[in-house]
Amino acid sequence: METKVRFAPSPTGFLHVGGLRTALFNYLYARKTGGKIVLRIEDTDQARKVENAVENLLSSFEKLDIHFDEGPHKNDGSVQHFQSQRLSIYKEHIQKLIDSGDAYPCFCDGSRLETLRKKLSDAKATIKYDRKCLNLSAEEIQAKQETEPFVIRMKIPNEEKVKFYDVVREKVSINCSEIDDQVLIKSDGFPTYHFANVVDDHLMGITHVMRGEEWLPSTPKHVLLYRFFGWNLPKYIHLPLLLNPDRSKLSKRQGDVAVEDYLEKGFLPETLINFVALLGWHPKDDREMFSLKELENEFSLKRIHKSGAVFDLEKLKWMNSQYLMQLPLETVVERSIPFFENANLDTSDKAKLSLIVDATRQRVQTLAEMPEASKMYFTVPVISVDNKELINAPQSRELLQKLKENIENSNIPDGDGFKQIVMNIGKEISLSGKSLFFPIRTAIYGEPKGPDLVLLFNILGKKEVINRLNQ
Ligand code: GLU
Repeated sequence: METKVRFAPSPTGFLHVGGLRTALFNYLYARKTGGKIVLRIEDTDQARKVENAVENLLSSFEKLDIHFDEGPHKNDGSVQHFQSQRLSIYKEHIQKLIDSGDAYPCFCDGSRLETLRKKLSDAKATIKYDRKCLNLSAEEIQAKQETEPFVIRMKIPNEEKVKFYDVVREKVSINCSEIDDQVLIKSDGFPTYHFANVVDDHLMGITHVMRGEEWLPSTPKHVLLYRFFGWNLPKYIHLPLLLNPDRSKLSKRQGDVAVEDYLEKGFLPETLINFVALLGWHPKDDREMFSLKELENEFSLKRIHKSGAVFDLEKLKWMNSQYLMQLPLETVVERSIPFFENANLDTSDKAKLSLIVDATRQRVQTLAEMPEASKMYFTVPVISVDNKELINAPQSRELLQKLKENIENSNIPDGDGFKQIVMNIGKEISLSGKSLFFPIRTAIYGEPKGPDLVLLFNILGKKEVINRLNQ
């Protein structure tokens, strides 16, 4: 049977790291098995809906190069993957459960439920509905339905345990006495997450339900719904929690930030994919760098682990610096341009920009750091007091004076010729190593340590080098 998985976000804001991890694992599994991935928008909670959330989600996935086989696409009018457009389907299905006695209407109002909740909580008992409405007669129900708002609840069977198998957790078993008669249809007629999720997973032919561990406690209810309908269960795979380095639940401050924010901070899509793939999954060996295509081959459910996955911001930065060095230069240049433009730096000379990016990419961890780390190529650097001392030392002054005259009088085309001149002068006045290179680099670059002189000359050009030597 063909594998079919889904990513089923509620459109309540931007795509976060946790959501990306779920989407990515599903995507990788679909690609690995030659199956399909569905994007389904779970927008049944009218109060939590956020304007443009779906557009933002689609745009984030596009930047990350993740594509869904079914579901809403940009500018696509298809509505069958929005739960809010499928109300008649849920209505038809809830009726089946009412008819079979597996679901019942409940007319209890908010204040009664609140009092009940408080009573149970004070008694330290499991918080669940006391089934007052389960005993209403058909006539009572009919009369009430005409005048009072109501919800539909599922009737948890009077048996000991619900058991199911989870690929990561293995055998899971929950006492029925701990499960509440979950509301399936709310008083506004919309289904709850639990009901719509199960009905859709079945109707859409989902074979594997892969999602965050926070959904594990809901799964027994879902398993029961499958049973009520007489449907086959999908395979369950609950992904480990994402944790801060101190093993607390991942917080916004530590890393549970929107994917869009990471991109804006200059993390590369390749980094985010690679980093997130390792949150809860590990490859056969200790290898760490994987492209999306490589992950599609390597991924396997067997290598998802149970224990929480720690989000380490330092590792993310390290990985980004690796990608900055490994990706083709043109790609890094192209991705850097918006950051240079944001900093009002001139990007019109593409050949020069490409040299600048090449010289700078080994010195930064994100694209956002690029303009600051390369500003000395755009404007004459401000030289610190210590560094001024270095270039004002008598032997440095002699060196720089000679260098300036030599360049002015020569016809050097490029950095190699420049370096040759530097070496010749060094020999002439017996300077080498640091005492030769540091004053020159400081005069034209602002710092004694930095890129090779050949590269510096190639970026700045003869005119600018003379200008800086003069200053
Ligand atoms: N709509 C749920 C969410 O927002 C989906 C959970 C699931 O995958 O079952 O995460």
